[in-house]
Order: sequence, then C-alpha cells, then structure tokens
Amino acid sequence: MFRYFGEGQEGDMTFTSGNKAIRDHVAEGEDLLLFQKQDRSGMLRFLGQFVCVNTTREPTPDRLGNMRSGIVFHLVPVEALHDVDAAEPEADPNAGGLDLVALRSAAMEAASTGDDQPAEGARRRIYQRSEAVRRYVLARAAGVCECCKAPAPFVRANGEPYLEPHHVRRVSDGGPDDPRYVAGVCPTCHRRIHHGADGKRINDDLGEAILLLERAMDPVKSGKRTRRKHIVA
Ligand SMILES: [Zn+2]
Ligand SMILES: [Zn+2]
Repeated sequence: MFRYFGEGQEGDMTFTSGNKAIRDHVAEGEDLLLFQKQDRSGMLRFLGQFVCVNTTREPTPDRLGNMRSGIVFHLVPVEALHDVDAAEPEADPNAGGLDLVALRSAAMEAASTGDDQPAEGARRRIYQRSEAVRRYVLARAAGVCECCKAPAPFVRANGEPYLEPHHVRRVSDGGPDDPRYVAGVCPTCHRRIHHGADGKRINDDLGEAILLLERAMDPVKSGKRTRRKHIVA
C-alpha cells in the first residue's frame, strides 16, 4: 500500500480539483499513473499504475506551518489486485437474485472510492468492489464470450459459466474498474488479447463493442474518453 498526501496550500484539505480527481479516478474512467521524483536530478521515475482504495484524514502542517486536516490516499498497484479476478468467486447470498440492472448499479458504485473511510478493512472492501464489477460483467456476458461470442468453455464447480474479466484499458487486469471498460471473455480470447500478435487490434474492437453495449444501457454516461491522471509522489 502506497500513501500519498493530497494537495492544498493552506487550511484543511478538501476533495476538490486534484484531490477529487484522485479519489474519483476509477469512477471517472481515469487511470492513475504514479511517478516518484528522484532526489537530485528531479527526474521522474515511473512507479506504475495504481488504484486508490481508500482515503483517510491525518493532521499535517500547511504552507504556513499551521496544523490542519490532510487527506491521505491509500494506493495499491493494479497488479496486486490481479489475483482477485482469478480467484474463486465468493458466495454472496444477496447477489443471486439481483437482475442485470441492479448488478450494474452495484458495479458502478464499486467504481467510486467514497470519502474518508477507516483504514481497517480497506483490503476487504477493495476485494468486494472488484467482486461487484466481476459479477456484473459476467452477468452481462451471460455465459457467452464477449469477444468471440462462443459459449464459455466449461462451468465452474459452482455452476457458473467460466469466463474471465478483462480490463480493456489496462496493461494488467484486476481491481475495481468502470464496468464500461471490463469485458467477460473466454480464456483463449483472453490469452490472445494479452499475448497474440493481433492482441491490440482485438482489444480495441472489444473495447468499442463493450462501450456500445454499455451506451445502450446508460445513454447518460456515454461518450467519455479515457484519460490519465499523473501524480508525483
Ligand atoms: Zn472468446
Ligand atoms: Zn486481460
């Protein structure tokens, strides 16, 4: 877990501008790229793509040396969340009866970090948020690969058709993400996207198809383009 202090010159830090952008980056479809300033040269070293899992408040001095309430962002590398997607899904007694619309709003909600939450249980919450996205995407796919349109190759021990969540905009899969950028794909398509000579093209086509599908479900939140938020630690 990486700690990153929010911005703000004087007074209590607020969730505006840059701080808001970091907190809401998943919900806003922004990738969070973290850089670290090197001591002498001032050169930036790329630390990787991160997900904001949590925010907390801590006293910290402002520009004038007065103590004020600071925002701390807790960031984890996207890679660390990768195994969540691959893991055996948790049994959630409430999820079974939910329809696609309810699963979708749960997934959308899971894309936002929310204001100041206790640090305890942060890891648990991010797993649950990842799981909400996974659940919706697989429900949307309904047992058919969203890439090649073939039926899932087999069913899991729990009876679910086996498909894998693929994060269209990311180098690595994992973690909460805007469900408009996550697809349920068969293992062969998934490997091909990541390792195939034509992987990039297939990924681009898949991304467009998913966006169209999602646009039909929610015309209001359409048309947004992927942006990147760069922060320097
Ligand atoms: Zn496929
Ligand atoms: Zn993938």
